[in-house]
Amino acid sequence: MRGDILSRVVGMETSLLTALGDKTARPLARQLELRTVGDLLRHYPRKYIEHATVTRATDREDQRFRPGEHVTLLGTVEGVTGRRMRHRRGHVLEARVSVGAQWFTCTFFNQPYRERDLKPGTKALFSGDLSRYKGGWQLAAPDFIVLNAGASAHLPGLIPVYPATRRLRSWQVMMAVRQVLDLLDEPEDPLPDTLRAAHGLASLGDALRRVHLPDTYEEQRAARRRLVWDEAFGLQLAMVGRRASATTRPAPACPRREDGLAAAFDARLPFALTGSQRDVGESLSAALAGTEPLNRLLQGDVGSGKTIVALRAMLQVVDAGRQAVLLAPTEVLAAQHARSLRAMLGPLGRAGELDADPEGATRVTLLTGSLGARARREALLDAQSGAAGIVVGTHAVIQQGVGFADLGLVVVDEQHRFGVHQRDELRSRPGETTPHVLVMTATPIPRTVALTLYGDLDTSELTELPAGRRPIATTAVPAGVKPRWLDRAWERVHEEVGAGHQVYVVCPRIGDEGGEPGEEQPPTAADDLLDPERDEETEAPVARPPLAVSEVGPMLAEGPLAGLRLEILHGRLPTDEKDAVMRAFGEGRVDVLVATTVVEVGVDVPNATMMIIMDADRFGVSQLHQLRGRVGRGSAPSSCLLVTDALPGSPALERLERLAATPDGFEVARLDLQVRDEGDVLGAQQSGRHSGLHMLSVLRHGDVIAEAREEARAVLAVDPSLADHPGLAGLVRSVVGEDEAAFLDRL
Ligand code: ADP
Ligand code: MG
Repeated sequence: MRGDILSRVVGMETSLLTALGDKTARPLARQLELRTVGDLLRHYPRKYIEHATVTRATDREDQRFRPGEHVTLLGTVEGVTGRRMRHRRGHVLEARVSVGAQWFTCTFFNQPYRERDLKPGTKALFSGDLSRYKGGWQLAAPDFIVLNAGASAHLPGLIPVYPATRRLRSWQVMMAVRQVLDLLDEPEDPLPDTLRAAHGLASLGDALRRVHLPDTYEEQRAARRRLVWDEAFGLQLAMVGRRASATTRPAPACPRREDGLAAAFDARLPFALTGSQRDVGESLSAALAGTEPLNRLLQGDVGSGKTIVALRAMLQVVDAGRQAVLLAPTEVLAAQHARSLRAMLGPLGRAGELDADPEGATRVTLLTGSLGARARREALLDAQSGAAGIVVGTHAVIQQGVGFADLGLVVVDEQHRFGVHQRDELRSRPGETTPHVLVMTATPIPRTVALTLYGDLDTSELTELPAGRRPIATTAVPAGVKPRWLDRAWERVHEEVGAGHQVYVVCPRIGDEGGEPGEEQPPTAADDLLDPERDEETEAPVARPPLAVSEVGPMLAEGPLAGLRLEILHGRLPTDEKDAVMRAFGEGRVDVLVATTVVEVGVDVPNATMMIIMDADRFGVSQLHQLRGRVGRGSAPSSCLLVTDALPGSPALERLERLAATPDGFEVARLDLQVRDEGDVLGAQQSGRHSGLHMLSVLRHGDVIAEAREEARAVLAVDPSLADHPGLAGLVRSVVGEDEAAFLDRL
């Protein structure tokens, strides 16, 4: 029976039950959810240990051992003594084990036969809890495995350490892996030989063997490089392929006209464009003129002036006789966009009204879920008839069956609030053409991350802020230990208002019905990516609930901010009330706006020069950066106070202080990403279940990702459905899952 199994050659799809038998396979399935040979071989070692080293359960920096600590050590038995215990009945066996220059005593009770396994010179792995013994360290009754006896003839030079559990030891995984590798038929390599040669990549079989059982670090590095390549390549094939399938139809060509709205708008601009606004504008303009659908991610820190870049692109499309739509994540933002586009356009945006520019003015139409029936009918008609050159609305509403006369461009603002998939809806509508797409994000995403997550978008960046901006002076205010500082903060609000400016006070919660932090906009995967502070780890245990707008508002109005014109704003107010408050604040009729994160993105009131964020430690770093971007939008100096009860020296306060010292959004995004386990970064992006991404790191593998992207383009250019590359089609499926790989079937 057993011989039968052993003589059978296994493949990646073979079940572990077949390959290893029930006794070994069951714990692998139960403890680690590994069911096939492929699952097991993709369960990569977490790290390796050299002979004569100790690894510990936690990767502690400091070198001192602690009693009770769980360690695994790989050492050499130097001597063994067995004796009867003096005061109790029973036998005790002590093995002296050297690990480098350090000594450990491994103690076994009533197992005299162990002496046979632990002859001097034996190399073995011992795993157990440390205790003090005779001035040295002891492992009492450790688990152990002998490594250089008989069967372990080809003991690897480095011992793999696997993600394992107390029930399933790392070395049990190692033994299973070795068994499987012995039986494994050379797996078919999905990567074409030419590609492997060009990039100096090991074969799949070699890579799998050497990632698990390397002799040298060099070997395991080469193996990892190959396996990382697989993941990057699978992902980029999916990204590039999806893009290709979305763009099999041409986009409407919208060449720039020198006598149109775009030119008239430029002539009226009250300020000079920044260099990067001009550069990006030119590149967008050139792309819109062509029939290859534009697919662009525009990144720019808060306040860098993305809206004008988008508006200039939209006007070029309107000049070509087509329509543009601007999608915003919230009603507040949509309404504000419509208002500010109209204001910027002036008479150019008032088609059909008395003071419109007589020549070719256009109309900006707002379409949100809360419009009354009549207003909605009119807005829909505007969109359908083409009377509205620019339609602004929330994502949800526009995607639900709004018809357009001739849609040329879709602009998506603040992409990080959306899923990656949602932008495809408008584009995949039937028709001869497919619109150009411009996605804007103010949450800066490092280029490698953008490539990985949005590999199907090209990116442009606004790298400078408009002239005259001053950095937002950000200060952490530990109100718990320095209540006077908070008093001083309220005095400063009076000073700002006295100088004719306005102030935001932001709270994490609405209040009353017991809302939750962040409820305004449910977090998306990408939010999680950039706001690691949502993790339970940093959500310090706290006695009181986060401060709420409904409590802080009245408290300030009756207390320290009495006499100022104060309003509250949050997502649960009726829409017209929200609009009224926002308009009043925009027009300077409100001094202090106490709000939730509804003001987080896009809100643009240049006269607001101060923001006080209450319970700032409850927000993620990126979110705080977004929030503070609401001030510093005019030429007056601005400030942001991060109020917290966190104690000096606590990680929460340190995080806020770091943010306070970091004005640059890209740097902030890096701060965020660095504390994040990147498996999660990519994993979170995969819908739900099992992700095929194990090793790829968006921070460390930027170069591989870029190379893989080029190769993916080259392969898909000649074989768009991967019909001639079944191995690659399989790779795509295994890396991104069936859903994401759907483009393969669509062609
Ligand atoms: P964001 O990139 O955060 O969306 P906005 O587009 O809202 O930024 O622009 C922020 C503010 O800066 C707006 O008031 C806008 O009118 C102004 N602005 C944009 N470009 C310039 C410029 N080149 N010079 C001066 N002010 C500008
Ligand atoms: Mg904006």
